[in-house]
Amino acid sequence: MKQRLDFILSQAVSEITPMPSLRAEVISIGDEMTSGIRLDTNSQWLSTRLGEIGIEVAFHSTVGDNLEDNIDVFRHAVNRVEIVIITGGLGPTADDLTRLAIAKMANVPLITRPKVLADIRSMFEARGREMPENNSTQAEFPEGATPIANPEGTAPGIDFFVQSENGRSCRIIALPGVPVEMKQMWSQSVESTLRKQTGDLSIIFHHTLHCFGSGESHIESLLPNLIQRGRDPQVGITASSATISLRISTRGISEIDCMDKMQPTIETIRKTLGPLVFGENGIQLQQVVHNLLTTQNKKLAVIDAGFDGLVAEQLSEFTTPMTSICANETREQMPDSDEVKKIIESSGATLGIAIGPIDRDSEMVRNGQSFYQVKIFENPTCQETQFRYSGHSGWREERAVKEVLNYLRLYLVSNHDQRSTL
Ligand code: ATP
Repeated sequence: MKQRLDFILSQAVSEITPMPSLRAEVISIGDEMTSGIRLDTNSQWLSTRLGEIGIEVAFHSTVGDNLEDNIDVFRHAVNRVEIVIITGGLGPTADDLTRLAIAKMANVPLITRPKVLADIRSMFEARGREMPENNSTQAEFPEGATPIANPEGTAPGIDFFVQSENGRSCRIIALPGVPVEMKQMWSQSVESTLRKQTGDLSIIFHHTLHCFGSGESHIESLLPNLIQRGRDPQVGITASSATISLRISTRGISEIDCMDKMQPTIETIRKTLGPLVFGENGIQLQQVVHNLLTTQNKKLAVIDAGFDGLVAEQLSEFTTPMTSICANETREQMPDSDEVKKIIESSGATLGIAIGPIDRDSEMVRNGQSFYQVKIFENPTCQETQFRYSGHSGWREERAVKEVLNYLRLYLVSNHDQRSTL
């Protein structure tokens, strides 16, 4: 149990997220983001960090370099959350509008802070340059704001409290858009400042179970009393590329405390869904198959007449050097059993999987076949099945490859179970 818990905790550290009592909005500013030139990675990073200290991020907003739009977005944010974290728009140029927009939204003037101005000047001097006049705007702050030191950049951050329309206090923290500066300032001061504000050191912790082989609604129907809002631990269900994930969440004073609370729910789900559950906390199907092959000391030969070697390609992501695959052959047609056995023998494999169209004369599955077959050979047995090749053209191949991997996983699991009960 201890070992299992350690594994779970090591997998799930990045998944700690917020307690619901203090809500935040993360705002990223810049035409680069609204035009699609640059991806807003700051909001993703900040949301994860906020979650780690128990602050729930309720909204993400992205706004271009336009003063009225900035004021509008800030006003909305202040009226709906307790903490607003802004990145971008703190540079010295005319399109850097965050300082002014905060001041206008709060109806306070911008005041130059002589100490900050002197610091910016000396930063330029240390780099052997004279400070351009434009940079003096970076020493301007909305009246009542506290500067946040930016150790390696010219744009200090802003820490400012403002009243919402209904009289609540909202804290605005504005940081530079440049990711390295923003991250450094978070670690050096913003994180501890916000931790002091939350006071409550509880965390929300998640544990995720991944399933394959059944649809989202069917899985939900098997767990009617678990997937209900308001339940603690809460169980959420999501589907992505034919994988269904069940995320179990609860709040506690530590990760171990949360895991203790979640354990009965995790066990109920595992018992109800049985082999539909293939793994936990981000593990992928191909990795699970690779792990099973490795622990059972089996070497696989893949003979692929359906998916151009994709099955082996997916598996080999986790087998470098190729420890569990010793043959990867692509064929035009499904080979017969003798041919598969020869490949297994000549490659030194202990197990073979062949994938292809239903009969030798039919076309490749990807060219219009609606069924394909999968055979698993392990001396002296051969086990086979057929799958329907269907779904959206954008993802049916990916799903079919997963179907093959899952068939192999179930074979390995049942084989192992049978042997261990002998
Ligand atoms: P500076 O003081 O350097 O001018 P700033 O606070 O004005 O910074 P921006 O000018 O808006 O920030 O952005 C600087 C650079 O940081 C952008 O060109 C972009 O490369 C990066 N950046 C800004 N915002 C984000 C974001 N949300 N996600 C990822 N990168 C960002």
